[in-house]
Amino acid sequence: MEQYSIMYRLIKDFEYEIIDTEDKNLNKLYESSAKYYQLPGITIRTYQLLGNFTLYLLGNLDENKQWKEDVRLQYLKTYLKKCISDDKYCNVKTFLSFIRFSLHLSNLPSCKCFANCNYEMDDGNKELNLEYQLQAIHNSYNTIELNKDYDCNSILEVIVASLFDIFEKGYKIKKCRSCDKFFVARKSETFCPYISPYDNTMSCLQYSRKTSSSEKRKNNPIQNQYNKVCNLLRKRINDAENFHYKDKDKIKKCEQDLEDFQIEYVKNKKIQYKNGEISRDEFLTFLLDKEIYFKNQKKEEKKNGSKRTDKK
Ligand SMILES: [Zn+2]
Repeated sequence: MEQYSIMYRLIKDFEYEIIDTEDKNLNKLYESSAKYYQLPGITIRTYQLLGNFTLYLLGNLDENKQWKEDVRLQYLKTYLKKCISDDKYCNVKTFLSFIRFSLHLSNLPSCKCFANCNYEMDDGNKELNLEYQLQAIHNSYNTIELNKDYDCNSILEVIVASLFDIFEKGYKIKKCRSCDKFFVARKSETFCPYISPYDNTMSCLQYSRKTSSSEKRKNNPIQNQYNKVCNLLRKRINDAENFHYKDKDKIKKCEQDLEDFQIEYVKNKKIQYKNGEISRDEFLTFLLDKEIYFKNQKKEEKKNGSKRTDKK
């Protein structure tokens, strides 16, 4: 396999990124990441938001056999998951220590950092005078933009450089509560700025602000399924209480089932889902399985109940 160097470039005060490489596969992946992280209303763009390429790669590591078996890339993915479950990991000190001790990288890839500035040079005063230059720079302060070019030799180095810049800016890495994408949170937002799966004219963040909580619930299959199971169990308690012969043990058992289910949901599954340990589909499957389980349990009880009466 041919080895190409990869330049990872950050522009506009390191807010946007692009790669420059002759590696066709990487260029294709970069394009895929731009499509995956599409902002509403913007179709074609060469530069994308800082971190998109890295988060896309880490989210799809398992699709590339070589990367799947690369221990250091897997370590980076584990680090990413840590960041999502605890934002204390989103800082440069912890991160640089991690790359040194766990990835055995002594330092970041070499980089050139420079300013682009449109100096307002007065033609009549072209004499290169230091005082004049400093004044010109000062006057153009608002037009100054910082750029950075990382010279990387592997995809690992691109990811490391990118994560470093995300943390250096004080940003956090999160998983969107609506579409499940990893994203870089500039503030404390829990929804991403990319196209919403429910409305392609707006972002998940805009959608979450626009829709009322009742509508959101309607569109949230996990919440719906959770409510369904709770209602099923509540109905069972109700039935047991209203039965002509009050079986206290049975009522207690029904109440216990509901409580156990709610605790497992809140303290276990919901956290695992939030931390990225289980996918949205796995979470939903868990809830669907619970519904089937409780329904079957009821059927069993009915059967056993009728058997008992048969004996009499
Ligand atoms: Zn989203």
